[in-house]
Amino acid sequence: MRRIIDTLRQSGHTAYLVGGCVRDSLLHLPVKDYDIATSARPDQILKLFPYAKQVGAHFGVVIVDGVEVATYRSDGTYRDGRHPEDVHFETDPARDASRRDFTINGMFLDPASGEILDFVGGRRDLEAGIIRAIGHPLQRFEEDHLRMLRAVRFAARMGFSIDPETLEAIRKLAPQIHFIAAERIREELTRMLTEGSPRRAMELLDESQLLQEVLPEVKAFQGVEQPPEYHPEGDVWTHVLIMLDLLQNPTSTLSWGVLLHDVGKPGTFHKLDRIRFNGHVEAGVTIAREILNRYRFSNEDRDQILSLIANHMRFADIQRMKQSTLKRFFRLPSFEEHLELHRVDCSSSHNKLDNYQFAKERYATLPPNEIRPQRLLTGSDLIELGWQSGPGFKDVLNAVEDAQLEGKIQTREEAIELALSLRPPNGK
Ligand code: ATP
Ligand code: MG
Repeated sequence: MRRIIDTLRQSGHTAYLVGGCVRDSLLHLPVKDYDIATSARPDQILKLFPYAKQVGAHFGVVIVDGVEVATYRSDGTYRDGRHPEDVHFETDPARDASRRDFTINGMFLDPASGEILDFVGGRRDLEAGIIRAIGHPLQRFEEDHLRMLRAVRFAARMGFSIDPETLEAIRKLAPQIHFIAAERIREELTRMLTEGSPRRAMELLDESQLLQEVLPEVKAFQGVEQPPEYHPEGDVWTHVLIMLDLLQNPTSTLSWGVLLHDVGKPGTFHKLDRIRFNGHVEAGVTIAREILNRYRFSNEDRDQILSLIANHMRFADIQRMKQSTLKRFFRLPSFEEHLELHRVDCSSSHNKLDNYQFAKERYATLPPNEIRPQRLLTGSDLIELGWQSGPGFKDVLNAVEDAQLEGKIQTREEAIELALSLRPPNGK
C-alpha cells in the first residue's frame, strides 16, 4: 500500500489513504481494507500499474494488488437517490472529501509523514464520538438514501452518537429508504446485527424512525407485554434487545434468528388466564418468511433462520424427549445456532438454564454415529423384500429408524422383523 502511494507520488501525483482506514487507524482499531485516493486519472493509474484491474471506470476506481485506488472526484447530481448521474475527476482532495458521507469518513492520511488532511472536521467528531454528515445533511441523504442506514451502522458499531441535525434529516427522509434496493438494505441490516452492538443499532434505527420503515414487524414488539413470571425483563422489544446484547460474534443467520424469533408474538397476544401467545411460533414463521423474501435472502439463509424460529420452543420439552426425537432434533443443520438462541432466550428472561445445560451436555457427549447412525434398512432394502413404495412406506422406515435410535434394535434382521410387523409386504 505504501509502495502504491510512493509510485503515484514519484510520478507527480498526490495520493493518500482515505476513508474507513484512516478513521479506524486513528481509533486504533484493526483496519479491514485500505483505500487510496489520488489525483491520478484512471488511465494514469493503469499506466503505472499495468496489471491493475479497472472496476468502476465511471467512478475512476482501479484495484491495485487488492487495494482500491480511486481518482479524487466530485459527484454530479443524483437522479434517483442512489447513483450520481455523472462524476467529475478532481485534482484537489478537498473536493473529494466533500462528496464523502460522514466527517469521520472524510479524512486523508499520508502514511509516510503521518499527516492528516482534514477538510471536514473529521478529527474533532472522531474525538467527540459524533456521526455527522458532511455538508447539508438533508441534501446528502436525499442524494443517497443508503447513507441513512450507514449513519446508524457506524454510530452503533463505534458507540458514537448521531449529530442532532443529521439525525433530524434521517427522521425526515426515513420513508425514502424504500427507494434503495432490498439487497442493499439487507446487507446494511446484517452488518448492524453482526458487527457488534446490534442492540444499539436497533435502538438507533428506532430513534431515527428507520425501524418502522425497514422492519415494521420488529417495531411492533414495542409495548407487547409478556407474562412477568416468565419474562421479568418486560415487553418483547426489551426481551429481544437483551438477547441481541448477549450474542458473541454471531453468524448472520443466528442474529436474524434472534431478532425474529418472537416476531409472531404481537399478532398472537391474548390475555386469558394469563398473557398467552398461542401459536406464536407458526405465526412467526409466516411473518419471518415474508420479511426474508422481501429482503431477498438466499434460500439457505432463509431456511436456517426460519428453522431457528420454528424450533425455538422445543427446548422446553428437551429433558422429556424420546431418544429418537432428541437425536433428530440434534440433526438440525447448525444445531449450535439453535442452542445459542435458546441460551440467550433464557438468559434474557427467567434465567433458568437447566434445559440449555442438558441440551449442551447431551449434544457435546452423544457421538455423531449415535445421532446419525448408519441406517439398518433403506427403501431399496424394502423393495428387495418385495414391497412396493407407496403411502406409509416412509412411515415404516421412520419407525424402524426410531427403534434404532432408541436402542431397541441393533441388526438388519431385527429391522426387517420390525418392518414386517408394522406392515406386511404388498400382495401378501
Ligand atoms: P467499513 O469499515 O464499513 O468498510 P468504510 O468507511 O471503509 O467502512 P466503505 O463502504 O468501505 O466504508 O467506503 C469507503 C469510503 O467511501 C467511506 O469511508 C466513505 O468515505 C466513502 N463512502 C462509501 N459509501 C459512501 C456513500 N454511500 N456516500 C458517500 N461516501 C461513501
Ligand atoms: Mg471499507
